[in-house]
Amino acid sequence: MQPHNVNYGLVGYPVLMTADIALYKGEVVPVGEDQLPHLELAREIVRRFNTLFGFVFPEPQAKLTNFPAVLGLDGVQKMSKSYNNYIEISASPEEISKRIMTAVTDPARRYRSDPGHPEVCNVFRLHNFFTPDRVEEIALECRGARIGCVDCKKMLAESITSNLEPFRERRASLASKPGYVNQVLADGANRAEVIAKETIREVKEKMKLLQRADLE
Ligand code: SF4
Repeated sequence: MQPHNVNYGLVGYPVLMTADIALYKGEVVPVGEDQLPHLELAREIVRRFNTLFGFVFPEPQAKLTNFPAVLGLDGVQKMSKSYNNYIEISASPEEISKRIMTAVTDPARRYRSDPGHPEVCNVFRLHNFFTPDRVEEIALECRGARIGCVDCKKMLAESITSNLEPFRERRASLASKPGYVNQVLADGANRAEVIAKETIREVKEKMKLLQRADLE
């Protein structure tokens, strides 16, 4: 609990999120673990509406990945632009390497000769995602002080760079076709608008808010 940070955003954000989901009658929402309480509130809100006015909205369920929470380079907060502890998908190999070198590791490992504790190290957690084939070997080498944190981070930077390569290429290709991107966005907005209008009409009907003009 952070009493100094209790503000409207705490409820406004999940309510807005509920509106975004409910407007399109979303049933499954891909989220990180930190968003689960928000989805719980979303279910409460749509359940309440359905009870009061009749069924309109399905109760949205979460879809988590095998890595439901990714900590940022500070090793404390979730990876987010807001916390400036992130790696951009479009980052160059040099930028990725530079960012990874700032990552917090096992605080108990002060010298290269100290045995490490991969279970508390966020660089190791990221290896689980980006270097899955070598995590056992990395854990052993870390515990036995046979690998230094700098080398471990270099390895992670290489893994992230190669994992993100296809995304970087795709992004660069799309960035060179702004007309195409704008068209895709406009098409998506048009399709979304049709669904949203129909949902709003249904909601008004259930709430008996339809005007004569809406019925004609
Ligand atoms: S060697 Fe790797 S896993 Fe071990 S503490 Fe250093 S960065 Fe973390």
